Amino acid sequence: MSVTTKYQIEEQPDSAQERFHNQNLIKERFWEKKKLEDMSKEEWELLCDGCGKCCLNKIEIKGKIKFTNTRCRFLDCHNALCKIYEHRFEKVSDCRDIDLAAIREKPRWLPKTCAYWLLDNNQPLPSWHPLITGRAESVHEAGMSIRNRNTVSETGIEDYENYIIDWQDL
Ligand code: SF4
Ligand code: SF4
Repeated sequence: MSVTTKYQIEEQPDSAQERFHNQNLIKERFWEKKKLEDMSKEEWELLCDGCGKCCLNKIEIKGKIKFTNTRCRFLDCHNALCKIYEHRFEKVSDCRDIDLAAIREKPRWLPKTCAYWLLDNNQPLPSWHPLITGRAESVHEAGMSIRNRNTVSETGIEDYENYIIDWQDL
């Protein structure tokens, strides 16, 4: 039995756009007014641009973090969303919550486009971020997500060093 068949895959939302239904909250541009530590759970979740790049596997070589183009087996390579989001920590032991500690202690485990890292380092959200455009698709259209890129599922892979990538947006 392959690893992926062990878990029930959750139903995905009809559209990633559903995340942005609270337009009033978005119009307030909360991310320009609040520190990360003061954000509500809803605001925190909205900050994620949906790129999926944090769900690529990384390896550490001589103290340096290298991204690979192997993706978590639960990452949908089209919409870049987690297929088991509500149960991810139960089912994937090395799935890391993106919280303040992760951003500050392990910044190289996130891509340099990650909205959390940008805001925590006093940088603005990029023009393609869904909170700026109002459209979940804009991260994909800008070529900033994993969609339409050469990635492979991690299932069965052991030689991760042969999958190292140097995408400019990592
Ligand atoms: S890298 Fe950051 S912005 Fe992109 S999916 Fe992960 S948490 Fe969200
Ligand atoms: S289980 Fe974790 S690493 Fe895997 S796709 Fe979901 S959020 Fe990403």
